[in-house]
Amino acid sequence: MQYDNITGSYNSNALLTGNEAIASGAHKAGVYIAVGYPGTPSSEILPFLAKFKSAIVNWSINEKTALEIAVGASIGFKRSMFTTKHVGLNVASDPLMTLAITGVRGGLVIVTADDPGMHSSQNEQDNRLYAKFAKIPMLEPSDSEECLNFTAAAFDISEKLDTPVILRTTTRISHSRSIVSQPDIPGAAVIFKPNASYSEHLNKPYIKDIGKFVMAPVYAKKRHKAAIKRLEYLTDFSNNSGINKIEYGSPDFGIVTSGISYQYAKEIAPSASFLKLSFSYPVPNILIKEFVKNIKNVVIIEELEPFIQNEISSLGINLKGKEYFPRDGELNPDMVERGLGEAGGFIAYESRSHSKNNKPGFDDPGNILETLQPRLPALCSGCPHTAVFYALKKLRVPVMGDIGCYTLGALPPLNAMDTCISMGLAFGAAQGLSLTKSSSKKTVGIMGDSTFFHSGITSLIDAKYNNISFTAIILDNATTAMTGGQDHPGTGRNLSLNQSVSNKIDIKKIIEGIGINEIYTIDPYDYNKTFKILKKALESENLNVVITNRPCVLYPKKLDCGKKFEVLKGCPGCDLCMQIGCPSILTSSFFNPSGNKRIPFIDASCTGCSICKDICIFNFIDEIKK
Ligand code: SF4
Ligand code: SF4
Repeated sequence: MQYDNITGSYNSNALLTGNEAIASGAHKAGVYIAVGYPGTPSSEILPFLAKFKSAIVNWSINEKTALEIAVGASIGFKRSMFTTKHVGLNVASDPLMTLAITGVRGGLVIVTADDPGMHSSQNEQDNRLYAKFAKIPMLEPSDSEECLNFTAAAFDISEKLDTPVILRTTTRISHSRSIVSQPDIPGAAVIFKPNASYSEHLNKPYIKDIGKFVMAPVYAKKRHKAAIKRLEYLTDFSNNSGINKIEYGSPDFGIVTSGISYQYAKEIAPSASFLKLSFSYPVPNILIKEFVKNIKNVVIIEELEPFIQNEISSLGINLKGKEYFPRDGELNPDMVERGLGEAGGFIAYESRSHSKNNKPGFDDPGNILETLQPRLPALCSGCPHTAVFYALKKLRVPVMGDIGCYTLGALPPLNAMDTCISMGLAFGAAQGLSLTKSSSKKTVGIMGDSTFFHSGITSLIDAKYNNISFTAIILDNATTAMTGGQDHPGTGRNLSLNQSVSNKIDIKKIIEGIGINEIYTIDPYDYNKTFKILKKALESENLNVVITNRPCVLYPKKLDCGKKFEVLKGCPGCDLCMQIGCPSILTSSFFNPSGNKRIPFIDASCTGCSICKDICIFNFIDEIKK
């Protein structure tokens, strides 16, 4: 049964994504405040939690600020949760590393959703290493039911053991649906009562404790010792809490695994013995020794880094794992089957290919993906970024780019962005490149509105402070488009119970406040003016800023310009309009008047932005007359 938006409750089993289940677990645990910055695959947690209307749920300007808010709430004896994608934890790592030694008051849970395979990310770092780096415990659910239960448990663990707790998921866990057989989740008005034995101190009035929260060296040294000591309790907990489990099957063949890899391994070798590490840092030394003692051949299956393998090897036990499974990308059942086969001496007890072939009426279609034509991702029809990138391409300037939908401006046919490295990098990189004088052209830094608020502001201030000249372009489409249209300080809306808590922050006023006087606001649906203004900004020797003013065509609501465009008869087939990469412009089966080139065709997905009309210098594109 699905979540009911009207009653704000479930009555029985629910088919939830991992992200929805995490939100439900936080609600169940009575989280007081939940904050984060959108990032795939974590973005759906906070909007789902907001539906319960039981906690303060806000998007923050960036991950560092979000974690800092969660820390403050914890110091105030309230439960708090911070959500992020894997790379966002890098942004929050400064407070994280010291929070790890101060410990907490109210339970503090950090949800990091990693992206093995880089479906929507610039790298595939393995955030399990953060748990070890910071000496804090980590939970890894394998399905939605565990997402809910582990999230709720994480708050208790945090309070009981005086530590923030990392709950790590991966894309397949975050976005897959599975049954959650929880009892009734309370309705909107009811808040779950936290486990009294762990949480009796919650909701106390604020008190000062400088020994715990002022990390000047004199106190920090003591707290670091306490954090090292805490590892002993955490290891004890890892062995005895029941969260880590041995599932005995065959005495000849065992698998140590966690997260989604557990599901793949269970599918391929269900008769094997399993040590399922759900509390995966610190690892349960006693359980591991018991497992290895009782099972003849043991292999480790894990995605990305040999994290479990290294932890087990530090116990003096050498097990193989990465020898058979890759260190990059996602695993899948086929890879697990192959890896177990290569492991030699192991028998995949149920041959999956055998059972597949035996299914009545089942024809193996082979790898369908291999038969598909590769297709590059593209900006949407009518995306307001299109004209800016097309103009930059014509202007042939170095463009330091950033992370958002607009990263697609780097791909053909636009080819107008030169870098995409990390959130908020563009204006810093533009400064650095400009200082090298390695290009005769003025440098451009380009980023979206959400990225500007996230971490672009500081480097623009820095550029003004150090008097470094480049052209900063802010593609203000009034949303965080790439992750699904979340709000940010520039939209004036948030997820909270009470929308009036949000204020709209004016980007132009911020820039004026920095002291930058040369600011241009442009309408990117007017290509000719866009080109002219960008050219002017690039000819100026000043540090200047260009801000676009058209919203995304998908968020917050689908754009309808109320018109459509067509290619007129007589089109010479020059292909200019194809160069903007609008997905609505396709090659037709018709030829130009000379009969030597196919002409373009605009399909029904045209949003009527009119950019192509401006691009067609021969005037063969026009609005369809009704
Ligand atoms: S979602 Fe919005 S910003 Fe992203 S490509 Fe589409 S129109 Fe452009
Ligand atoms: S007007 Fe032209 S560029 Fe705009 S969406 Fe339609 S076909 Fe694409």
